[in-house]
Amino acid sequence: MYDSIVAGSGAAGSVLARRLAESGRKVLVLERRPHIGGNCYDEKDACGIVIHKYGPHIFHTNDEEVFAFLSRFTTWRLFGHEVVADVYGKRIPIPFNLNTLYEVYEEEAAKRLEQILIQEYGEGSRVPIMKLKENPNPQVKAIADYVYENIFLHYTMKQWGQTPEQISAEVTGRVPVLISHDNRYFQDTYQGVPEDGYTAMFARMLDHPGITVRTSDDCKAHLTFTERQTLFDGEAFTGPIVYTGAPDELFDCMYGRLPYRSLDFRFEHYDRASFQGRSVVNYTVSEAYTRITEFKYLTGQEDADGTTIVKEYPFAYTGAEGEVPYYAILNEENEALYRKYVEKTEPYGNVYLLGRLAEYKYYNIDAIVKRALEMADAIRR
Ligand code: UDP
Repeated sequence: MYDSIVAGSGAAGSVLARRLAESGRKVLVLERRPHIGGNCYDEKDACGIVIHKYGPHIFHTNDEEVFAFLSRFTTWRLFGHEVVADVYGKRIPIPFNLNTLYEVYEEEAAKRLEQILIQEYGEGSRVPIMKLKENPNPQVKAIADYVYENIFLHYTMKQWGQTPEQISAEVTGRVPVLISHDNRYFQDTYQGVPEDGYTAMFARMLDHPGITVRTSDDCKAHLTFTERQTLFDGEAFTGPIVYTGAPDELFDCMYGRLPYRSLDFRFEHYDRASFQGRSVVNYTVSEAYTRITEFKYLTGQEDADGTTIVKEYPFAYTGAEGEVPYYAILNEENEALYRKYVEKTEPYGNVYLLGRLAEYKYYNIDAIVKRALEMADAIRR
């Protein structure tokens, strides 16, 4: 009946299932949540405001193929995403850029420092904070110290429970200091959200005669890994099994749990037009939450009467019932543990790991889409 199984219906699973189905395969998608869309899932809350249930997701890409693929299933609400940091009540643009420089220094000093930064790094360059901190020029070092202390240190402590030095440079490198006057959070050509939401986009993607989706159905209830083969409902299954969840769970955490960071999302609704006047404010020196997102500015419901926000409280994922793993914690030890689980899958030859959780990577949506398309193409060859 089915020749391919996909566990998970987030960006990874949905894109891969569609691509396989379009090559003539019969794909069964098993989703343990009661809904599709993974962590991109959005829905209207009780007050009619569209929320991202698992935190704000802003799509951005430079990849024409990825953008074209997704655009078959949605039109877009495109915008240049901007974020500010709340630093002791003052809001400054982040990533820290030349405009931010003028916000935190007097005009004369900012002018001088702007020239120094341009000389050192070149206009338009992107400098990770950990690199900027290494600059021996005391004037550059002073800027680096400001940015480190006011943008990165406390936010990173909240988000990861570790300092910027202790976490992978890849993570803080996602938000480099910009030697430009560009206030946008991302510099990608395309950025925005699907016009009628991520859930609708993925629902259209999964709507194909070759795809069967079963929600509230955990793949673990169907899959068995014997010493030699994979079984589906007790029968040998030799087709591809693409798994997009946390790989430790597939093998009952036999080597121990893979560490992830989780978030507690606390939603609040206000019967007023606006809460913070913009989509995202990062709290980089204060508060227990990392950021507040006001959804109406992301989704285009600015004219709605009320407004809904979400505050994000990070914590260490333990695997307890109801917790959701969101971020892999990239370090050598965790990656070594991860590889042990990968090695468990290898002898079968038909088990594929795909996506943020399953590949233990800090993927953006567009990178997952790209990987899923490539994996599907490799499978159908
Ligand atoms: N970061 C920070 N302050 C900020 C924004 C980001 O310290 O205001 C650091 C923090 O360690 C964070 C990382 O940069 O985890 C990556 O930020 P990004 O906005 O990409 O995180 P995401 O939106 O994926 O949670």
